[in-house]
Amino acid sequence: MRCRRRFKGSLHSLIHVSLSCRLFATSAFSQKWLSPAAPPDRLPFSRVTQEDLAFFRNVLPGRTITDPDLLRSSNVDWLKSVKGSGEVLLRPQTTEEVSQILRYCNSHNLAVNPQGGNTGLVGGSVPVYDEIILSTALMNNVLAFDSISGILTCQAGCVLENLSHYLEESDYIMPLDLGAKGSCHIGGNVATNAGGLRLLRYGSLHGTVLGLEVVLADGRVLDCLATLRKDNTGYDLKQLFIGSEGTLGVITAVSILCPRKPKSVNVVFLGCETFEQLLKTFQLCKGMLGEILSAFEFLDSECMTLLNTHLKLPNPISDCPFYVVIETSGSDQTHDGEKLHNFLEEAMSSLLVTDGTVATEESKIKALWSMRERVTEALTHDGFTYKYDISLPVERIYQLVTDMRQHLGDRAKSVVGYGHVGDGNLHLNITSPAKDPALLAAIEPFVYEWTASCKGSISAEHGLGLKKRNYIYYSKPSQAVALMSDIKAMLDPKGILNPYKTLPDNPK
Ligand SMILES: Cc1cc2nc3c(=O)[nH]c(=O)nc-3n(C[C@H](O)[C@H](O)[C@H](O)COP(=O)(O)OP(=O)(O)OC[C@H]3O[C@@H](n4cnc5c(N)ncnc54)[C@H](O)[C@@H]3O)c2cc1C
Repeated sequence: MRCRRRFKGSLHSLIHVSLSCRLFATSAFSQKWLSPAAPPDRLPFSRVTQEDLAFFRNVLPGRTITDPDLLRSSNVDWLKSVKGSGEVLLRPQTTEEVSQILRYCNSHNLAVNPQGGNTGLVGGSVPVYDEIILSTALMNNVLAFDSISGILTCQAGCVLENLSHYLEESDYIMPLDLGAKGSCHIGGNVATNAGGLRLLRYGSLHGTVLGLEVVLADGRVLDCLATLRKDNTGYDLKQLFIGSEGTLGVITAVSILCPRKPKSVNVVFLGCETFEQLLKTFQLCKGMLGEILSAFEFLDSECMTLLNTHLKLPNPISDCPFYVVIETSGSDQTHDGEKLHNFLEEAMSSLLVTDGTVATEESKIKALWSMRERVTEALTHDGFTYKYDISLPVERIYQLVTDMRQHLGDRAKSVVGYGHVGDGNLHLNITSPAKDPALLAAIEPFVYEWTASCKGSISAEHGLGLKKRNYIYYSKPSQAVALMSDIKAMLDPKGILNPYKTLPDNPK
């Protein structure tokens, strides 16, 4: 293997996903496709009246939006796969304003769709019908940062990337990172329990989020905004809201434990001939890099083709069936460099990897990461995308891609696999030139049955939203779903918060 230290072309100038990615998505949208993802009929919520608007305008002067042009982007999801017809967009700045809005909506039977950065991938972030869109975009203040404990407290609408920049000044980083960082909000991240690229190292938000402030459906403010690492005084209520996708309450503030910024970061981009070799590389990597390993991600050669074709990103190494992005983060460049060198030597001499390149400079690190982070964006240019976010025993994750390819034959345009090997999380994506109900019928329920047969999860990190809600039983027993419905009924008896999402239409 050659460990090339130079890139072909100007890869280093490429940047992460930004808001502008929204412009690249596919064109077809319609709510009414014939699958369990199709929404049920509109529930009997009230319609917004002039009297309601007068109330909202009084609470949110200049921040009650009804102009259809301004509402358009808030009604369409990032993938441009679902479209609602919300006629009102509310932009509160404070928890008290959110509380007043929800108290009013609850008493007037008005449905509400909480919205963060609108980068969700399961149709949860936009209205299905005419739900009021409650955006956290203006709730974007950092409330406190303790540079001794590393605990950050902020409003829910802070953009993840802005928080990262803010923390960098104090030599800290956010414990999570994802391709949508330039748009997604920390409140949205918590509401979806986003995983992302650092989960392998820093764990899930169920561990790093220390406290939440949440406004309940009836307007009550639940102040669980603790900044303690340890607190065993009864039930840990905040956990209920992490991953609740806006169905149990509106998250208005978050306190989160942030790690120190690593002094030394290395990124390696490697090629493997087979997925078995990739898994062996992962094993070797865990053993030899140990505590400095911070990410182990993969993409297949079909993803590389999409990056080349649609985003003009050149392959930094020679063509291989599989590619791996490995990141190390530590506190001593010499120590980390030595460990990495030993690992690479072993991986090369045992022929686990066939080619690779190493980056230590920030711009090159970003460029290598973009090969993994921008696959989602490249897919939007390939056609209509059917997205599956599956948790599986790590040794099985690529088998699903192979089986799906065989199962679909030439009915699909592309069938690609990438994801978080370190977390056993596969992103299986299938494209077709346009929305294709016959193709969808061939994919589902095949993909869910396959996943259930391995005791996997049909949603590793994206949630269920509108699109996956009726498939929940493939991964959750009916007793658990019934208890979820009971919790929903207790916290939101009128069901005004994000209706049609997360819970199945007809719980068993
Ligand atoms: C390019 C790209 C890469 C991505 N990579 C990853 C990844 O690696 N890992 C991952 O997990 N996800 C990933 N995602 C999906 C998405 O970015 C995450 O789900 C993200 O956490 C959503 O945050 P958001 O602010 O955009 O929320 P939105 O999309 O606005 O909303 C998502 C859900 O949360 C609810 N919600 C939002 N804010 C609040 C709030 N304050 N209170 C209550 N409910 C709320 C909404 O109602 C909706 O149900 C990616 C998306 C894109 C486009």
